[in-house]
Amino acid sequence: MPQSLKTCSPHNRWEAVEAPKQDPRKRSKNFEEVVLGYSEEQALAEASRCLTCPNPQCISGCPVGIDIPAFIKFIKEKNYAGAISKIKEKNSLPAICGRVCPQEEQCQKNCIMGRKGESVSIGRLERFVADIENEKGITVKSPNKCNGKRVAVVGAGPAGLTVASDLAKLGYHIVVYEALHVAGGVLVYGIPEFRLPKRIVQAEVDYIQRLGVQLKPDSLIGRLFTVQDLFAQGFDAVFIATGAGLPKFMGIPGENLCGIYSANEFLIRVNLMKSYQFPEHKTPIHVGKKVAVIGGGNVALDSARCALRLGAESVQIIYRRSRDEMPAREEEISNAEEEGIQFKYLAAPKRFIPDELGQVKGMEYVTMKLTEPDATGRSKPVPINGSETILYVDTVIVAIGRTPNPIVQITTPGLKTLSGGIIAINRETGQTSLDAVYAGGDIATGEATVISAMGSGKIAARSIHRLLKGQKEKTALTTSVKTT
Ligand code: FAD
Repeated sequence: MPQSLKTCSPHNRWEAVEAPKQDPRKRSKNFEEVVLGYSEEQALAEASRCLTCPNPQCISGCPVGIDIPAFIKFIKEKNYAGAISKIKEKNSLPAICGRVCPQEEQCQKNCIMGRKGESVSIGRLERFVADIENEKGITVKSPNKCNGKRVAVVGAGPAGLTVASDLAKLGYHIVVYEALHVAGGVLVYGIPEFRLPKRIVQAEVDYIQRLGVQLKPDSLIGRLFTVQDLFAQGFDAVFIATGAGLPKFMGIPGENLCGIYSANEFLIRVNLMKSYQFPEHKTPIHVGKKVAVIGGGNVALDSARCALRLGAESVQIIYRRSRDEMPAREEEISNAEEEGIQFKYLAAPKRFIPDELGQVKGMEYVTMKLTEPDATGRSKPVPINGSETILYVDTVIVAIGRTPNPIVQITTPGLKTLSGGIIAINRETGQTSLDAVYAGGDIATGEATVISAMGSGKIAARSIHRLLKGQKEKTALTTSVKTT
């Protein structure tokens, strides 16, 4: 039976119900969504696998603390409105999280069903009820009466949007300043349409605006206004959520050749500027026949799968460790494999080779081997002498990581930062070194995940609320963070 048709029949409750997907041969040529949502029948079958544990472990695996058994119980009762309002008590972006959260590493990892068989597919169920709500039109309870306090949020990614919605629900007047022309952060400029349709992001941004949040696009804080200017304009607190949008490079010879993109530039052109719909949208993109993508995370996979859809004949991921160490989501790795993306593991580029016009025509790489795991349990890749090999490629996309956007840090005197420009915060409160200035998401952790950014937004929202109600926070800044 094709995977996409596997349903949860009552005979085997240890197996999760598969979500249907577009056929790999078809989907590798279009930007339509790969994973299709559950039908009602599939959702009910999957929900029936949840044991409604009296002592549920899944909730502690969710960075925003959704009452998972409670929302699944509503699904079992076909009370989908009840299910979505239960989720929305904690999460304002459920249709997004249901699609891109690494549930297998979080809530689903703790699911009791996973001890004997497959965990309940919590993310797919979350998506199911969020999509029903989106189709019907999201209803918004009238926002609380404004309490007279104003909070500025800098950056409209998942962290900023979470703080904005949580505080708006408590009656604060919120203004979100966003450098780009649309809200969503990486959700709109990084993650491609075929994983996260932009209408889904827009519907959730619209919901947050309908809570009373004012959105100011095209507003680069640090240039248009500084953080001090925001206080001078009468804001009572500021939350900084500017993300990690600066690409890292390898610093090897030839990296500036034509035909070599940073993943950021490539994905921004494709997703935000919609070059996959050129010429209806005006931004073009050039993708050659043989593409190499350097890196092993979600960003590398998204770049590779976009390049394939834009007409490349072959796309290879070049990763210096093995498949087991790839930081990308397992589901996305196997989706990419099904689509025909090739993987060259234990390989690291040494230099890029130009043609006579300065266009990349090849890449010399060295084969790596992994050392014994160190104290942290991670093996180190080391080069094997004499293993240099040439690979002929005409397009390269470098996706080896991102660092924090620096403008707010540079223009805010007294704002303490850690190495790499990460803003130092108290992890329990989100407070920075400055009074009434909070930060969260990738800018305060280094590149991480949508749900961790939202989790840190929730912590900061609670602290800002406490502060503005008159209970002052104690500041104890972190001195280091674990970056991914
Ligand atoms: P961002 O999403 O980066 O948002 C920051 C916002 O601040 C941006 O809109 C930016 O324009 C704005 N901004 C920056 N500077 C200023 C300024 N000075 N003034 C005003 N606005 C400013 N995570 C997952 O959980 N699952 C995935 O599948 C996944 N895939 C990913 C794929 C890609 C290609 C990328 C790049 C990341 C992916 N991630 C994924 C990671 C995840 O998207 C991020 O961890 C998350 O978006 C961080 O949220 P944030 O709000 O901190 O920052």
